[in-house]
Amino acid sequence: MNNRVFRPAALLAALVLLSGCQAAPARQERTVLAMDTVMNLTVISDAKEEGAAALDDAVDTLYALDQSLSATGETGQVYALNHAEGAWTALDGETVELLSQSLELCALTGGALDLTAHAAVEEWGFLTGEYRVPAQTQLDGLIALIDYTQIQVDETGAQAKLPAGMSLDFGAVAKGYAADRLAEELAGQGVEQALLDLGQSTILALGAKENGQPWRIGIQDPAGDGYLGVLELADAAMGTSGSYQRYFEQDGVRYWHIIDPKTASPARSGLASVTVTAPSALLCDGLSTALFVMSQAEGTEFWRAHPELGFDVIFIEEDGSISVTAGLEDAFSLAEGYTDREVTVIAP
Ligand code: AMP
Ligand code: MG
Repeated sequence: MNNRVFRPAALLAALVLLSGCQAAPARQERTVLAMDTVMNLTVISDAKEEGAAALDDAVDTLYALDQSLSATGETGQVYALNHAEGAWTALDGETVELLSQSLELCALTGGALDLTAHAAVEEWGFLTGEYRVPAQTQLDGLIALIDYTQIQVDETGAQAKLPAGMSLDFGAVAKGYAADRLAEELAGQGVEQALLDLGQSTILALGAKENGQPWRIGIQDPAGDGYLGVLELADAAMGTSGSYQRYFEQDGVRYWHIIDPKTASPARSGLASVTVTAPSALLCDGLSTALFVMSQAEGTEFWRAHPELGFDVIFIEEDGSISVTAGLEDAFSLAEGYTDREVTVIAP
């Protein structure tokens, strides 16, 4: 009968504990299938209903961006632009904005990033999954169709045009752009802590975790199934481009979805994956693709030449070598099972 005895101290303790639980920030999550990717959005917020509403809005934004930025949706504006046979095509304001920002990145990376690689992406079968290795004569024809400088953008008139036969896609930058947009919207709704995981290849951390510690992000081993390392991320974004993310094999050769604009073929730069961290997810996404096309040595030179961009890089090469630029020396560590590997720190 002991448990029937009224014990005010115990009751008080229970009440304090309960109210404590209610005040603690709640973690809420949503899983979304958009841009051909399973995405996970996590929001930490004291205000549970506001957090849930912000997440609902974020999901709506993702679906809308998927619709407007997809190159394959036949009703979409990118499809219309690609099939306009050289005529001006009306785009909505945010697509023009993304196009202009992406073209700046194409120029900055000397054309390693080139939205018009799309013609090759399509010919290799990466749009449909009906893969094929084009003949050299076809590749020569495709090389002539890859040239982002031919894209004309009329920002005030919200329209763009491409020479007939050329086409573009936002595959290299859309998730980064989407993550930046979501972060902006969530911050505008008072959310201070969130992890936007748009399919591992693009992740944006708004603030830190509940305990104030950075989020810990697994860095995939390009040659295996597991995580080779861990990256600590707070108030920053990251983007990874890797040869393991989308590929097919023919006659024992692997062909992946990142195209070298100079060859119209999968980029063979000796890199297996490139992870970029920066304040902007769009920058991370665009640069990870571009640096993958370059090579470890060229990418390193690019990093040294552009301190104003405020980005850092993890290079993983096909031979398994790992190198990180100086800013990630403390934030990156090897995962269990990989601690015998060496990490080279690249000095500025
Ligand atoms: P990511 O996974 O961000 O590296 O982007 C790869 C996607 O961008 C591919 O699936 C293509 O749609 C497109 N793409 C491939 N190569 C390039 C390139 N060199 N520049 C721009 N976009 C590319
Ligand atoms: Mg990218």
